[in-house]
Amino acid sequence: MRVGIGYDVHRLVSDRRLILGGVEIPYHLGLLGHSDADVLTHAIVDAILGAAALGDIGTHFPDTDDRYEGIDSLIFLSDVAAKVKQCGYRIENVDSTVIAQSPKLVPYISEMRAELAKTLNVDVEQINVKATTAEELGVVGEGKAIVAHAIACLSRL
Ligand code: ZN
Repeated sequence: MRVGIGYDVHRLVSDRRLILGGVEIPYHLGLLGHSDADVLTHAIVDAILGAAALGDIGTHFPDTDDRYEGIDSLIFLSDVAAKVKQCGYRIENVDSTVIAQSPKLVPYISEMRAELAKTLNVDVEQINVKATTAEELGVVGEGKAIVAHAIACLSRL
C-alpha cells in the first residue's frame, strides 16, 4: 500500500467558470488558473502522483505549456490514472475535502464523485468528496479563494 497527499488553492475571480471535481457549478465567480482551475481535481492528481512517487502536477502539466490553457482538468486526472497503472499500481481509494465559504457544494457532491470515479475508472464508493467552509476566516472565509486537500491510496497490481 502507498499513500499520497495533495493540496491546491485557486483564487476566485469574476468572468471565470467554477468547476469542481469536473462539475460546473453556477456561481457569479470562478477559479483563476491556466487550465480550468479545478482545484479539487488538481489536489487529487497530486495525491495520486504522490502515492506513486511520480512528482507533482506542475512537472507533468506545466502551466507554461499552451496545450493546457483552459483544459478540462479531468484530462490531467485520466492521464495520471494511466501513468500509475503503467507503473503497476491500482487506485484503492481517494478522499478529499473542498474548503469554500460559498457557494454551498453539498448539492453537487454526488455528481463530482461520479465524474471523478468515471475518469479514474473506479467505483464511486472508492471516491469521497467532503465540503466545508472556513468559518469566514482568512482568504477562503472571505470568499477570495477555494482550497482542496486530497489523499490517495494505491496498491500493487
Ligand atoms: Zn491547481
